[in-house]
Amino acid sequence: MVGKIKVKTPVVEMDGDEMTRVMWRMVKDYLLLPYLDIKIEYYDLGLRNRDNTDDRITVDAANAIKKYKVGVKCATITPNADRVKEYGLKKQWESPNGTIRRMLDGTVFRAPVLVKNIKPVVRNWKKPIHIGRHAYGDVYQNQEIKVPGPGVGELVFTPSDGGEPVRRTINKFKKSGILQGIHNTDASIRSFATACFTYALDQNIDLWFSAKDTVSKVYDAEFRKIFAEEYEANWRDKFEKNGIEYFFTLIDDAVARIIKSEGGMLWACKNYDGDVMSDMLASANGSLAMMTSVLVSPRGFFEYEAAHGTVQKHYYKHLAGEKTSTNSMALIFAWTGCLKKRAELDKTPEVADFAVKVEKAAIETVESGIMTGDLIKVADPDPGNRQVYTEDFINYIKQNLEKKL
Ligand code: NAP
Ligand code: MG
Repeated sequence: MVGKIKVKTPVVEMDGDEMTRVMWRMVKDYLLLPYLDIKIEYYDLGLRNRDNTDDRITVDAANAIKKYKVGVKCATITPNADRVKEYGLKKQWESPNGTIRRMLDGTVFRAPVLVKNIKPVVRNWKKPIHIGRHAYGDVYQNQEIKVPGPGVGELVFTPSDGGEPVRRTINKFKKSGILQGIHNTDASIRSFATACFTYALDQNIDLWFSAKDTVSKVYDAEFRKIFAEEYEANWRDKFEKNGIEYFFTLIDDAVARIIKSEGGMLWACKNYDGDVMSDMLASANGSLAMMTSVLVSPRGFFEYEAAHGTVQKHYYKHLAGEKTSTNSMALIFAWTGCLKKRAELDKTPEVADFAVKVEKAAIETVESGIMTGDLIKVADPDPGNRQVYTEDFINYIKQNLEKKL
């Protein structure tokens, strides 16, 4: 290879914590920086720096993504009480992902990286099943009441303009029971729909949206209606031109069809469905470390990351001087996803071409039997399979990459 490949516009990089921070450095140093002439807008979202800056750094990073449109993020600790003690934090800072998602108004999409020697549990799945989860409202922002005894449970809406309240009787309790109230907003549903249409078109795959509007004739029906309106108004032409389609189906029908499908679609799910189904898809595909994740904002911002966390247990082993066999695939694919998007926006196909070579080198490494501990457990048994350490895995990928440049 002669000279480095130039990345025209800066990329927003967000560093993170623990084992992923260790691997992040290696991925950059071994697989990217030797080959790319790239300007990086660096934000250290490691927990210590978030604490030092009173979490200002997370807000700055999100603003930088708004400016440059594309970012890549390492996994970060969401502090709980234990972490406050462990790091001597000023307070229990909010999840950086939550802060960024709120600022960019985004939807999270996940997709597995497929390799030939790790078969999904569902044998007919040939292409990745992408999942988009609405990350606002429903049961996650609910109000609940434990009903102690006889009484009436009601749903009441009181208009701000002084109009008559609207009331519905939910149940007349004769004995003890439970009650729950949930909500969503048209704006949030519309922005979710827009993000899903944007992502499906970007990936050139069909979009399925599922809910239960036969039972939930107002609530779920509103989701269905907004998706349909959005499709007709802004997407039908673009979808048809690209030979992809949008359709709505009931959630139970969607589950049955997904299992029988060969994959290759975006499945848009309501908040709870997406929570459950994305974990099912991740484990059905072998390992959390093979799951990529991207936050797509309806305003055209993209943030790439791995779906897994900071792999805390491995990090403590690493700190104790033990070698670990931690998988860097999802981190690598976060970087390549970011570079491919940058290339698309900058119109620099040579950058996209490099990113694809990195992905191929990584996939070929696993397919040649060189694997980390999580993969060896789920791969097709083969006497040639070898478990390697964290750093060696990345070096094997580098060797494969060098052959392609
Ligand atoms: P985790 O980091 O996803 O790890 C859970 C387990 O999954 C690991 O102990 C390991 O299993 C396996 N695993 C995950 N990624 C792996 C990889 N790359 N290679 C090999 N094995 C992998 O979840 P956690 O330990 O529950 O959470 C740790 C921290 O991550 C928490 O502080 C949490 O706040 C944070 N977190 C951040 C994000 C994010 O930034 N997006 C997401 C989730 C969690 P074995 O131990 O069995 O090998
Ligand atoms: Mg879940």
